[in-house]
Amino acid sequence: MREGRGWAHCGIGPVKLSAPGSVLHHGVAERLFRCDVIFCCTDTHGSRAVLNQLAYQHWLPTIDMGVRIDATDGQISAMAGRVQMLAPGLACLQCESLLDAEAVRRDLLTDSERQADPYIVGEASPQPAVISLNGTVASLAITTFLAAVVGLPARARRLNYRVAEGIVRPVATEPNPTCIVCSAKRGAPGQGDRWPMFWRRD
Ligand SMILES: [Zn+2]
Repeated sequence: MREGRGWAHCGIGPVKLSAPGSVLHHGVAERLFRCDVIFCCTDTHGSRAVLNQLAYQHWLPTIDMGVRIDATDGQISAMAGRVQMLAPGLACLQCESLLDAEAVRRDLLTDSERQADPYIVGEASPQPAVISLNGTVASLAITTFLAAVVGLPARARRLNYRVAEGIVRPVATEPNPTCIVCSAKRGAPGQGDRWPMFWRRD
């Protein structure tokens, strides 16, 4: 979603937390360890990769959400929304091929590294946003949260909102058994501080 480019906020139960800043930085992200649930509303691959990793490595249940709007020459050609819970037993963003490795690498560069990187030309152009779609997806995310936490009778933990058809469909996903992030045998689940994390170094 457009707001909160790389920023994270959460507040559940007795803990109310505001940690203004980018989750790409360790000092900001570590404050999220106090949270019970994280809502990921960021719009960069790097910030999503960090939260995806934390969800499994530190067992921080996270509900990721996003809206995609394709536009050419000012005309919208396609719109879609997605809600996905990231928690042990559920497929992660890496399994779903939703993270661009090159975009993650660029997001993790410091300002000086970015200036020196020969593969970066210009800045990413802002993507369009439609606030009503953001609101729909945010509400679906809250419903997913209520289902997972207080037992609202809704089984889906991954939802696709197909705007053109006006429908929301559940998507069944299975974790990739070889995924380095979410695989219980080979991945990061529960490793906590025993595994290094990737952060921006500035
Ligand atoms: Zn995975």
